[in-house]
Amino acid sequence: MFWRIFSFIACQLAGGAAGWLAASASHSATSELEGLAAGLLLAGLSWFLIDLSRAGRLLRWLRADEFSSAAMSTGLWGEVSDRVRRLIRVREQAALESQHRLQDFLAAFQASPNGVVLLDAQGRIEWFNSMAASHFGLDAQRDMLQHIGNLVRDPAFASYFSGHDYQSEVLMPGRENSPTRPVRLSVHLHPYGAGRLLLLSRDVTALEQAEAMRRDFIANVSHEIRTPLTVLTGFVETLQSCPLDESERERYLALMAQQAERMQTLVSDLLTLSRLEGSPPPGDSDWVSVAALTAQLEQDGRALSAVLSPASEPVHRLLFEAPPALQIAGAPTELASAMSNLVGNAIRYTPAGGEIGVRTVLLPDGRAEFSVSDTGPGIAPEHLPRLTERFYRVDHSRSRDTGGTGLGLAIVKHVLQRHGAQLRIESKPGVGSTFIITFPAGRVRAQPDRA
Ligand code: ADP
Repeated sequence: MFWRIFSFIACQLAGGAAGWLAASASHSATSELEGLAAGLLLAGLSWFLIDLSRAGRLLRWLRADEFSSAAMSTGLWGEVSDRVRRLIRVREQAALESQHRLQDFLAAFQASPNGVVLLDAQGRIEWFNSMAASHFGLDAQRDMLQHIGNLVRDPAFASYFSGHDYQSEVLMPGRENSPTRPVRLSVHLHPYGAGRLLLLSRDVTALEQAEAMRRDFIANVSHEIRTPLTVLTGFVETLQSCPLDESERERYLALMAQQAERMQTLVSDLLTLSRLEGSPPPGDSDWVSVAALTAQLEQDGRALSAVLSPASEPVHRLLFEAPPALQIAGAPTELASAMSNLVGNAIRYTPAGGEIGVRTVLLPDGRAEFSVSDTGPGIAPEHLPRLTERFYRVDHSRSRDTGGTGLGLAIVKHVLQRHGAQLRIESKPGVGSTFIITFPAGRVRAQPDRA
């Protein structure tokens, strides 16, 4: 500002002096005072024109929107242009940083496993992530700024959205929902800002299925326990209220013992399942000899067959093939329990006199196959995929008659999963069944020679 006043005064002084000198030198009629006034006027006008042209330069610079260099470097307009340039640079920097922050936020929303939709105060879609796109079938090109109500038309969501009470979430079918492959979504709206809404969606299909399985499991367990308990209570009441002779008492007590044993087996199977689910998978440092396992299976199998076969009929023909000299890595009790479940089932479901074969073979790729085949009733193909579900039975009465709990194959499945092994079932109704366990090569080795 000082230079501006100084330049103006200097210009006036120079103009005034030049006017004065020019008037006195010309010896004309114009007095020196008039020369001074004309000089001052001309100098002021020149200063003003120069100043105006500099201001014009600054204006052109501002309009050009190109601030890489200042419009000029000196004077008041130079300083104005420099300050404007610095201010713009600071603003641009701040805008760039907020842009980056916004991108980071959107990237975080994009990475969210939940669907995220941002709605404006009118309920129009401003942004959504790819998970929301798949949950609701939204398209980034087509659906931006569309009203959410026009795109998500489920009645439960429509009444939730229009109800304006967003305390809790609403459940609705997902876009991909079909009778064979249900998809359930939990949708929650959260108000924010000036009337805006944040919509979060979660795929709860697995949770709902797990919850349904838990309910079914509890109902099944209660039913399985209640049946023998009812029988047991009936016998107790009979013993308490009716005078019975010794043989009848003996018979009732035997039946009561049978029911108690049934409950005990059920509880023991349930405990086995819960232990399998709750404990870490077995390592591969414990090696179990296939020969020892087979010997134990043969001993238990023959005993079971003798118990189950009626005295008048022949027992099963049990063919235990001589096992190869192999070892399997895993938990010995779990492996024995899985294998004996298969042998037990073959004996229990095959009528007396039928044939049961048990064998282990080493496959060329190093895996080992343990199989149990029988000449029992066989299983229709539609049951095969469900056999390892808890409490799934093809023939309820046969299962109960032979002391089955419906949990045997579920235990087998768990044990095999923990050992990285697979279960394959081949069966033909009326011909028989073969249950095959395949152990991965990493868990199979040759039996080391005894030192
Ligand atoms: P359970 O205790 O009832 O035997 P499992 O889980 O061991 O329960 O078996 C499930 C069902 O699979 C059985 O109820 C039976 O219907 C069928 N099953 C299992 N093994 C055989 C087999 N070897 N032959 C015929 N059916 C079988």
